Amino acid sequence: MKQVLVLGAGFGGLELATRLSESVPDEVRVTLVDQADGFLFGFQKLDVLFRGRAPEEMRLPYRDLALPGVEFRQERVLSIEPRTRRVVTDRGEYQPDVLVVALGADYDPAATPGFVEDGFEFYSVPGAQRLRERLATFDGGDVVLAVLALPFKCPPAPFEAALLLHEHLVATGVRDRSTIEVISPMASPVPVSPSTNEAILTALHERGITYTPGRRVRRLDPAAHVAHLSDEVRRYDLFVGIPTHRVPAVLDESGLTQGGGDGWVAVDPRTLATPYDGVYALGDCADAPVPRAGVFAETAARVVADDIISQVRRTAPAQPYDGKGSCFIEMGDGRVGMVDADFLSGPEPVAPFYGPSLELAQEKRRFEQSRSERWFGRRSGESA
Ligand SMILES: Cc1cc2nc3c(=O)[nH]c(=O)nc-3n(C[C@H](O)[C@H](O)[C@H](O)COP(=O)(O)OP(=O)(O)OC[C@H]3O[C@@H](n4cnc5c(N)ncnc54)[C@H](O)[C@@H]3O)c2cc1C
Repeated sequence: MKQVLVLGAGFGGLELATRLSESVPDEVRVTLVDQADGFLFGFQKLDVLFRGRAPEEMRLPYRDLALPGVEFRQERVLSIEPRTRRVVTDRGEYQPDVLVVALGADYDPAATPGFVEDGFEFYSVPGAQRLRERLATFDGGDVVLAVLALPFKCPPAPFEAALLLHEHLVATGVRDRSTIEVISPMASPVPVSPSTNEAILTALHERGITYTPGRRVRRLDPAAHVAHLSDEVRRYDLFVGIPTHRVPAVLDESGLTQGGGDGWVAVDPRTLATPYDGVYALGDCADAPVPRAGVFAETAARVVADDIISQVRRTAPAQPYDGKGSCFIEMGDGRVGMVDADFLSGPEPVAPFYGPSLELAQEKRRFEQSRSERWFGRRSGESA
């Protein structure tokens, strides 16, 4: 039996464990470790924020995982020694044949001075709940929604939030006495896809939302409620930020980030292998040339799983990673658009956009349910 240790049971770790379980349950023993007790889709934070859905009702508990050959352990990873593949958690030690690191990205709100004191975020569950409470008493005013640093998860998410915020303020009757501005260091919302940019910019314009690209908020002055950009300021009544993302500290301390861009884990973009024998990294923590998004973590996990399967079965190596993923984008009015990205299989990345529709909203729900059923054997929001 080959021992595979998967660190992180998010989008990437769950897909990897599932694919190994369905292909080689008798040849591979998978231990899946996560500090949390259940999984929530990233986009469900928008449901918490704007639809008041309870996280407990949506969370898929890891105790329900019933994948042959896979054992889940709720443990916190404390250290990783990539050369020997030795991993220490708060409950034990491991030294697997294959180590897969899928620990996602952490947030560092303190990286922007004043943000912790006077800003709101919706990228974490507690952050989305806190912002929901704030919106309940928001009586109109100037809202600034800013991407504080690159890279960040799900490039369309700040724009989805701005469009849904508009809808929320209309519903609560305060949109007329409010402004919304989105500020981002990126030159366009989804640089790889001109058609997606056009659709997002049109939607913002139609709703009177100001978009300021290529600019970055450096700090907030909490006493004056003023955001400082490099050479101008914005006064705000409500500041919502996408916090700075960082690799989890345990990966920084492991040395796995050496050689990776901007402090992320160095990988071969075609195989997701790190420079260390038998060690892979995938998803948000890896420095692969794709956006941080669940759909890319999932397709990367398939490549790593196929590589492990080919080693076990002594067959030809897995197909190289193609960097493909289809991202749904909430555009308001209950409609969802989709960008179908392919980063690595051709000479240039391509990413056509499919306009917002109720059909794609249904498709997004099917996407969520198909993963819940595939990984947990049940639909999200359904009791075990
Ligand atoms: C508001 C929002 C909307 C989004 N919308 C979309 C979307 O529409 N489509 C899409 O594809 N993506 C979306 N995303 C992004 C998506 O959620 C992430 O990119 C995806 O979850 C990354 O998968 P991952 O496996 O790399 O990491 P994660 O899913 O984050 O999993 C990492 C896991 O590692 C665990 N972990 C971390 N440190 C430790 C430790 N020391 N010990 C033990 N466990 C640890 C965590 O508990 C976590 O479960 C969205 C994100 C947000 C915030």
